[in-house]
Amino acid sequence: MKTALVLGAGGFIGSHLVKKLKEEGFWVRGVDIKKPEYWDTFADDFQIYDLRDPRNVEAVMRLEGYEGQPLPVAYHRYPFSDALAFDEVYQLAADMGGAGYIFTGNNDANVMHNSALINLNVVKEAVQQKVKRVFYSSSACMYPEHNQLDPNNPNCEESSAYPANPDSEYGWEKLFSERLYLAFARNYGLTVRIARFHNIFGPYGTWKGGKEKAPAAICRKVAESTEEIEVWGDGQQTRSFLFVDECIEGVLRLTRSDFEGPVNIGSDEMVTINQLVEITSKIAGKKLTIKHVDGPTGVRGRNSDNKLIQEKLGWSPSKPLEDGLKQTYEWINKLVNNN
Ligand code: NAD
Repeated sequence: MKTALVLGAGGFIGSHLVKKLKEEGFWVRGVDIKKPEYWDTFADDFQIYDLRDPRNVEAVMRLEGYEGQPLPVAYHRYPFSDALAFDEVYQLAADMGGAGYIFTGNNDANVMHNSALINLNVVKEAVQQKVKRVFYSSSACMYPEHNQLDPNNPNCEESSAYPANPDSEYGWEKLFSERLYLAFARNYGLTVRIARFHNIFGPYGTWKGGKEKAPAAICRKVAESTEEIEVWGDGQQTRSFLFVDECIEGVLRLTRSDFEGPVNIGSDEMVTINQLVEITSKIAGKKLTIKHVDGPTGVRGRNSDNKLIQEKLGWSPSKPLEDGLKQTYEWINKLVNNN
């Protein structure tokens, strides 16, 4: 039986990834500072640990005595030589949220400090414990702001990352950590795979409370409204949104491929935020007016460039935005309206 460790397994993408790995027959350990909020974990073994502490990272990455049963994780050091290694480690844990969390500036110090600590611990321990391969989730937020000023023509080709100029500290930390994983690959022979996610959405993700992203926030607002809906900025900013199932498929394909990355995992169906509202309203069968209000909006335009993933993996996401939005709206509408 193959083994996988999912860090950030209490989060949106991590909890979906655990489910998929279980369906594939893996023994899965999930780790997070919290359990998934909206459904139960599918992991064989779920551990609540703070990954900013290197002792916790060491403990959860260890597989000694593994016999297909859930293991109690010991909080002390073992001799490294006895360690069994996880076949696949997925590093998704990060201090993050939507525009209301990462673009206001108020959370910059925590975002950089917390996520960098997690990655510093994980990459070192992955080498120590000889894990077979590590997937790291970077973000499209690391692309330079100057290539994303024109909403109709953003450039997010992987090679456009340098000279670097992300528009948020969240993006800078992602860029630093990409380089960190690549340096450990170079100097210590660690097998790493890196993807830059572009706006992943779907059911069982954060949909209220300040950390939610645009698709979930808009589904919630549409579900709550009968006449008017508020949108941050002029709504002309463009984005693409990838349904979570396709994100997971991309992650697994990349992790098991020979291609190190970094590579975009995103949809190339670009829409304005106003169009996102229109599609969601249509799904809900509502006629709503948009009221534009001040709020953090991020770059003017962003779209996934899928040439490289298509070339390297012979695959790229293809599900229409509207299909994924239907599933997401249905889930959020039930929570909002209790039906
Ligand atoms: P999420 O916030 O739902 O999941 C991240 C998880 O990390 C959370 O459950 C959180 O509790 C956990 N975590 C944070 N600090 C921790 C700590 N100190 N110790 C242990 N766990 C900790 O986010 P997500 O949408 O599932 O994103 C997963 C990864 O993908 C993140 O690294 C994120 O930066 C990246 N990403 C996501 C998107 C997206 O659109 N969702 C886009 C680009 C990149």
